[in-house]
Amino acid sequence: MTLYSKLQANPEFIALCAVSERLGSDPLQVQGPGGNTSIKSADLMWVKASGTWLSDALTTDLFVPVYHEVLAAALVADDGRANDVGPFTCAAENPSGLRASIEATVHASMPAKVVLHTHCVATIAAAVRTDAPTFLAAKLAGLPYAFIPYAKPGIDLARAIRQHAPAGTQILILGNHGLVTCGATVAEADSLLRDVSARLTPSTLAGSADITAAFCEKLSGSEWIPVPHGPSQQIAHDARLLALADGRTLYPDHLVFLGPGVTVVREGEQLKDVLTCAGQQQFPSKLVIMPGQGVAIPDSATPSEIALARALGDVLVRIEPQVSVSRLSGAQEAELLDWDAEVYRQSLNREGR
Ligand SMILES: [Zn+2]
Repeated sequence: MTLYSKLQANPEFIALCAVSERLGSDPLQVQGPGGNTSIKSADLMWVKASGTWLSDALTTDLFVPVYHEVLAAALVADDGRANDVGPFTCAAENPSGLRASIEATVHASMPAKVVLHTHCVATIAAAVRTDAPTFLAAKLAGLPYAFIPYAKPGIDLARAIRQHAPAGTQILILGNHGLVTCGATVAEADSLLRDVSARLTPSTLAGSADITAAFCEKLSGSEWIPVPHGPSQQIAHDARLLALADGRTLYPDHLVFLGPGVTVVREGEQLKDVLTCAGQQQFPSKLVIMPGQGVAIPDSATPSEIALARALGDVLVRIEPQVSVSRLSGAQEAELLDWDAEVYRQSLNREGR
């Protein structure tokens, strides 16, 4: 009997798969192959495989066994060994043969048995605010949380967690990134995740717009379609949301799936000229916003790319008025684009799933 088949009979693992499927099916928590969950059992941590979808957790073997204590020790030693999680995987007990998530380092950094990590849109809307530390102090009062300033996922993020999360922390708000909750049980970690998501969701959202016939007309004959999501369309019709969108990237998965920032059709530019070059050097983002008209994406967009195009609207409508945001720097954008681990995750995305 393999360790994986034993694990599949464990009630906590069954509970983890159910929560993973629920989170993965909720676009306000997880978009495409983003987000990951894990459970520790003796010396192994079972963590979601890179490039797989949490929404498949009830039907597919998603979890990869990693020697978490050895990985955690390597992260503390900070000597470069944890640059690649591959050597920490227990290959003999790895049914899928896939790589562990890029974010296995976050899971190994937290000693709790169960760790849930999502790209909760309400959390991202809070975590991009320049006043995030004071905003979170008011919203999350009484909870065992820590705010972790943005760091590249992987060893840099693990280092930032060591620096900013004291012992006993069960909730991490990852700056410009997302949410992590931990618990001794799946139910405990899930309860914290629901609580934080609810506390950070504003009472009113900035709105939603229909796809207009005029915009469809402008796109006809091109290889572009309107993003099928009201909050994302709203960006084109609300100057405040457009100003929030129009700049450097706000969080990593946007960049990884859609390119840096957004492409805005400027005064004097023709939509068809911009669409011809969008996604290439001059206009590197695959998300094109025509102010007053709508937001478009290539008709060849993968499900992951569409999920991230929807997420931008969901994040922006949750950012309150008068709030200023921090963005990834040019250097932070470049280090994500060149990253071998992301190139691998992207290759799985292009294969279709
Ligand atoms: Zn993440």
